[in-house]
This record gives sequence, structure tokens and C-alpha cells, in this order.
Amino acid sequence: MRTGYLKLISGVVLLCLLIMPAMADATDDYVLEQLGERAAILAMDELDFGYGDPDVLVLTNAGRAVVDGNPTNKVLSGITNVSGLSNGDADMYSINRGDWKALWIYFYNKDTGKGLYLVPGDDYYTMTKGQIMDLPLDDTFSTADLVTGDIYMMLADTDDGNATEEALGSNAFSLLSLSNSWAYGAPYDLMTVASLHNHLCPGVLGGYVPAKYVEEKLPAEESDSYTAVFTSASCKLDAFPVMWDLTPGKKNLAVVSEGFTEDSQEAFKAKYGTSPAGVFVRWNSGENYGDGIVIASLPSTSPPYEGPSWGSKIYGSVEKVKDLDDLDSLYTTIYEFKVNGSRLSELKDPENNPYEVIGMI
Ligand SMILES: [Zn+2]
Repeated sequence: MRTGYLKLISGVVLLCLLIMPAMADATDDYVLEQLGERAAILAMDELDFGYGDPDVLVLTNAGRAVVDGNPTNKVLSGITNVSGLSNGDADMYSINRGDWKALWIYFYNKDTGKGLYLVPGDDYYTMTKGQIMDLPLDDTFSTADLVTGDIYMMLADTDDGNATEEALGSNAFSLLSLSNSWAYGAPYDLMTVASLHNHLCPGVLGGYVPAKYVEEKLPAEESDSYTAVFTSASCKLDAFPVMWDLTPGKKNLAVVSEGFTEDSQEAFKAKYGTSPAGVFVRWNSGENYGDGIVIASLPSTSPPYEGPSWGSKIYGSVEKVKDLDDLDSLYTTIYEFKVNGSRLSELKDPENNPYEVIGMI
């Protein structure tokens, strides 16, 4: 009798455990996945593309945004289900934003230069599954703006360009720099760097391109690691967490600004005729020494920019992306050196001038 009762109770409890989480998740997941699917259906219609079209990119802060306490990664599944666009195919990127920021989705067709910017209405998230099933596609998004997204088209017709800037609002620079750089050849690793950085600017290229250059000049083997030392903190630093697994938390990405005084900067320029773009060391922990180089950027060969201010950095990034297959046209090695462990520590000490430590000045 007692055993039968226990069996009944445990059976009911087990049934509840199996059903309850599934029910709770099903609604949240459905709402989010459905949002991605609806965005994709609308975009395929408005931007006129088919499943898995390699000319189309989708950028979104889905996966980063948190809505009513729920992570929004299921939106990504919804977009992929319908459009075939995916991170694995290098045509979908989840872009870094604060997790409280409103969720948006931007599709871009590089064949036509047109983009579609979508923001769901606030009430969408409060709807039940039944209400969403009855919701017309056009009522899903409170913003659904078709824009001219190609930077050269925007610059050729600045009224059109201004309209795009206005429609994308505070996301304009991020979305236009990422989508145009992608359209003009930015590879997967650079897009991943820029996804973390939130946009693709000439500054972050000032970290990505040196990283590629150093990999070519000082190729690393499995047991090697790189150290990067800079004398100023800027966008370039954000390339290294993705490219080389360097982070401030692990103390292998050093910014040493105190020692490189204005006088030292002038002395450097007088001696080398250029400013340094960073000190890089390939460290071999087995041999306990490192090979280092100091590099400098070469003057740009792109036509000077003369358009409206909103286009300057987007244009600058796109022009540089077009030159990525010729790293020697962008950077040059101005000094080579070797370091042992204690010299490497001196190099990373913020009190020191790193160029003095390695004997350059
Ligand atoms: Zn930047």
C-alpha cells in the first residue's frame, strides 16, 4: 500500500519535472525563435534573396541582448532556420552590445547595396504563443527600414546616405562599418574581432593587421605565445583577445604609457623617421627566450576622404580591408631584438619606456 502510494507520488513528481521546464522554456524559446524566423521571412522578401544567398549578411545583437531575463540566442536559430545564414558560413555575426540594449537585426544584400533594419515592438515580448501565431508579419516590428547600405552609393548620393544614417540612428556606424567591410572582403577572423569591438574602425584594424603581419614575420608554433606591448590604449587592443588570446585579465596585453614621454616620442621620430605601431614578442617557453620586432605603419595609398563626417571611418576601414592580402604594403619592421624572461618583464613594466628597454633609443 505504502509502496504503491510512493510510486504514484514519484511518478507524478517525475512527470512534473519532465513537463514543467519544457513548458516554461517552450514559450520563451518560441517567442524568440519565431522573432528570428519572422525577421528572415521579411528580409528575404524586402531584399529579394533566397536560402543561403552568399551575397547576404545578417548582423544582430541577438545572443548578447537579454530580454525579460532571457538570453536571446534562439533568435539566431530562427534566422538560420529560414534564411540559411549562419556564423559557420561567415554570413551571420552576433555583435557585442550591453545586455540591456534593445534587440535589433540588420540584413544586408551586397549585390544590391540595400539593407533592412528591424527592431521588434516592445509589446511583442509580452505576447502569448497564441497571440504571436495570429500576429501579421508586418506588425511584428515597430521599425522595418529599407536603406541604402553600400558606403560608395551613400557617398555618391549624400541625401540617400543621410537618410540611412538617420534610419539606423545610434547603430549606424557599427552596422555600416561591419557590413561594408564584410562586403569588400573582411575575413571571418576580422569580423569576429569587430563583433567583439562592436564596430569595424581603422583603429581596430590597427591591431588586427599588425597581428597578421607579426604572424607572418614571427610565425608561432603550438608551444609559443605572443606578447604585445603598446604605449597607448585605443581600439587596436581589442583585436588581441580574439587573435592571440591576450587579455588584460591574463596580463599578457600590456599598455605602458608612462615611460614613453613626449620627449621620448620626439627622440624616436627623429631617429627612425616614423612612430612605432607596437612591440611584439614571440615567446618560446621551452627555450626561455623570445624573438621580438617593432613595427611601423606605411603611409596610406587610398585616395583622401572628402565626404561627410559620418562616412570617414567607414570609408577608411573599407579601403584598408581591400589591401589585406598585401600586409607588406601596410606595415614594415623597423627593429628586431631578443629577450630573456627578466627583459620581457621590464618590457611590460608601465614605468619603463619599452623602446629604451630593447635598446632602440
Ligand atoms: Zn573602434
